[in-house]
Amino acid sequence: MSGANEIHITPGMQRYIDKNNAYLAERDRYIREVVKKSKFDTIAVHGLYTMEDALEDYQGSIIEPIFMSTAQAFHDSDEMAAALGYLIPSWSYSRIANPSTYYYEWTLALLEGYGFDGHTECCSTSSGMAAIMTAVQPFLVHRFHNVLERRNFVATAQCYGGTFQQFQVRLAEERDVECRWVEDPTNLDEWASKIDKETRFLYGELPSNPGLGFFDIEAVADLAHSHDLPLIVDSTVATPALLRPICHGADIVVQSATKTLTSSGFGIAGAVIARSPLVTTIDNDALKNNFAIYVKYLPNRDYGPNLHPLQAVMSLNDMRTLRTKMDRMSQSTMKVARFLETHPNVESVQYLGLPDHPLHELASKYLWLVDAEHDELYGKPVNRYGHLMSFCVKGGPERAREFFDGLQRIWRATDLGRIKSVATIPSISTHQQQGEEGRLLAGIPPNLVRLCVGGEHPDDVIADLDQALHRIGTSTTAAVTR
Ligand SMILES: *Cc1c(COP(=O)(O)O)cnc(C)c1O
Repeated sequence: MSGANEIHITPGMQRYIDKNNAYLAERDRYIREVVKKSKFDTIAVHGLYTMEDALEDYQGSIIEPIFMSTAQAFHDSDEMAAALGYLIPSWSYSRIANPSTYYYEWTLALLEGYGFDGHTECCSTSSGMAAIMTAVQPFLVHRFHNVLERRNFVATAQCYGGTFQQFQVRLAEERDVECRWVEDPTNLDEWASKIDKETRFLYGELPSNPGLGFFDIEAVADLAHSHDLPLIVDSTVATPALLRPICHGADIVVQSATKTLTSSGFGIAGAVIARSPLVTTIDNDALKNNFAIYVKYLPNRDYGPNLHPLQAVMSLNDMRTLRTKMDRMSQSTMKVARFLETHPNVESVQYLGLPDHPLHELASKYLWLVDAEHDELYGKPVNRYGHLMSFCVKGGPERAREFFDGLQRIWRATDLGRIKSVATIPSISTHQQQGEEGRLLAGIPPNLVRLCVGGEHPDDVIADLDQALHRIGTSTTAAVTR
């Protein structure tokens, strides 16, 4: 895998390789014959952690053990040489791999690949931002076909504030990699007009945070592939419970597992999930054939943005109930959005579930509660739109802050995806650093409130919004008549 050195294989090493090839063949069979035939909830609960793993290796522990160990010991020099040559599946050193993060990675690979015919694999990362860096950097190699070349990529302007900073400041301004922002991602011509010979990948966030931008994944994936480019999608807001971009042609998915995937709020985590093989103009077979494994064993070994095993198991534990949480929180958000729509102190409400949202129809093509047709409750496919919404408070930015300061149950925090309802004003928090121009590009007005509805009873969330909106109702009269 390292490519540079030929590894001399001794007979002792070969015995380890044979033994581990048998193990890998058995794992492939298990994925094919057991896991791929299980429903989404079953995969979310068990992933690749088998009864056999538990009984034979982990003293019967029914929960994946937390391997708080920096390194793995080997039986002998043959095993060590085979392991460090990446000839056998081992973990060696926790910056490279770890048994706990292994289970986290496989659950995510299988959930994002649910319903997909091909193969998916995952590389865990310490955060969502590290996942984005891990996903984009390998395509931005400077020396390409042995000459130094100019590089650009095309990305949706409506994206997470941290992504904007990474692309605009770290890559464009500091490293001379041109980021070409797409302002209307529903316009395929705009995407197409920004692609040229120096383009390395297309990148899209959907639904975007906080603007709820959306685009036609299949059409953009087709466009990317017609130029031999990969499509990378940030699917944090949807989670695999509502959308699996790889099934629609995307090559790589990045997830901030910090958010809805876990929803508990214990800590930061991320993941890169890729189909293998994927489409790229980069001349690197390892990267092409299994992107997730490539980044895990080479670039990330060298950069070190790895996930801690304790966080991996805590995040994994939270993901087991993803589908039911997402169903419930989506329905509550719909109820809250309908309430806000009719409120006199609310200027506008943005939620993809509302029929008059301009992207409602497009979003409805893609956002489906996974396995609703196998659910006793529904017995047919049902659309669900997630728990992120936003709205503009009437009367401008000061009124928005008055409302915000009046919240008593909903937390004021720059967070989302929580089991607890959280609100933020993006223009003074997540999108503060990108300035007026950047916010305009991303479509963030100063009176916009981002709301992520949690697992509370929706009536209690509504009551809190109502009392906070009424507070500004009483003091706006003077301002309005002035
Ligand atoms: C939060 C977020 C990220 C970054 O994730 P971290 O885990 O905070 O690093 C990336 N994309 C989206 C859409 C996000 O909401």
